[in-house]
Amino acid sequence: MLRVATELFARYGYSPIYTPIFEHTEVFARGIGEATDIVGKEMYTFLDKGGRSITLRPEGTASVVRAALEHNLTANGQGAKLYYAGPMFRYERPQKGRQRQFWQIGAEALNMAEPSADAELIVLLWRFFEAVGIPADNMRLLVNSMGDEACRPAYREKVAEFIRAHAADLCAECDRRADTNPLRAFDCKNPGCVAVMADAPLLRDELCDECASHYAAVKEALVVLDVPFTEEPKLVRGLDYYTRTVFEVQADAGLGSQNAIGGGGRYDRLMEQYGGSPTPGLGFALGFERTLLAMQAAKARVPSPALADVYVAAVDESVRAQAFSLASQLRDAGVAAECDHQARSLKSQFKQADRIGARFVVVVGPDELAEGQLTLRDMGTKVETRVSRDGVTTEVRRALGID
Ligand code: AMP
Repeated sequence: MLRVATELFARYGYSPIYTPIFEHTEVFARGIGEATDIVGKEMYTFLDKGGRSITLRPEGTASVVRAALEHNLTANGQGAKLYYAGPMFRYERPQKGRQRQFWQIGAEALNMAEPSADAELIVLLWRFFEAVGIPADNMRLLVNSMGDEACRPAYREKVAEFIRAHAADLCAECDRRADTNPLRAFDCKNPGCVAVMADAPLLRDELCDECASHYAAVKEALVVLDVPFTEEPKLVRGLDYYTRTVFEVQADAGLGSQNAIGGGGRYDRLMEQYGGSPTPGLGFALGFERTLLAMQAAKARVPSPALADVYVAAVDESVRAQAFSLASQLRDAGVAAECDHQARSLKSQFKQADRIGARFVVVVGPDELAEGQLTLRDMGTKVETRVSRDGVTTEVRRALGID
């Protein structure tokens, strides 16, 4: 799965970024928001020996933004496309598809304000899931706009009022959310709350002109790119930092209630919260384990690449050292080569070559070697040719189409 991500993300212009597994608590609290479930309830936070508050990262965006600012990756209007993969930690109640330590692969596009950037990121997420073999029919792409500072505050207040007016029919937590994070009430799984929130006002109807036209352009681009999506006006996503576009991919087969396999959105104000200049950005994260569950349900398998192009087989013990040094020589010449370190018989070395998908086997035999010769066997056609020991590297590179 990681290999698929690396290849696909590179095709879309993303470079890897590696951020620390733990950071100052402040990094997450400031960006993700105090009123979110993640910061409020789910962080693994502790004091280090110096008495500083440290947190195991619960998600990737805050760290990427912090690192981008620290290293000036978006200075002078420069754009940055970055991706990461690694473990995240959240103190949640474990269940199917929900672990306290889980892996995410995520992508962030910084300094990109155009709606085409939103569409590009959504397509990338969708294509990734297709590339690992989850059939489009098993997935649902939901999109929504969360507005911005021009239209969201008034809407937020409207939802808060709505919650207060229906407090009697909502759970205690949603009731509290009127004061802390009213939009999160849309995410509550409690059936009573779901029923009440079905009639809550929708931001879709109150977007300002700029947000409405941005959203329209994103949807238009998705239509052109032939990515099927559903508008879900109640999709709010759990983090405070989102503005405008948010999206989520859900997969039903193989997952229970935790059916979100990936999601993300735009966060045009986030860089400022870290003291940077206004810098638009957006990103997504996908869950590794949940994606695996969805793949298993679809019986999807990513074909593993050959572990080596060439296997160097030793006919007997007397030429084992020469086989090893030939394998090393091939590796130094840029060829993926393998040899035996388990005292296997010649027959089982051939079996092993087959198992790892080697295209060629170089057979090192004592008699041939005495004459400066080796045998090169094409595992596809089964054709064997004699090659000279001295010219074997060139011969192998040519056979593999490298030269
Ligand atoms: P989020 O950062 O909450 O937007 O999550 C992004 C993706 O990470 C989700 O769509 C899930 O696939 C995955 N994810 C989030 N929390 C967990 C968890 N506790 N266990 C496993 N996967 C998770």
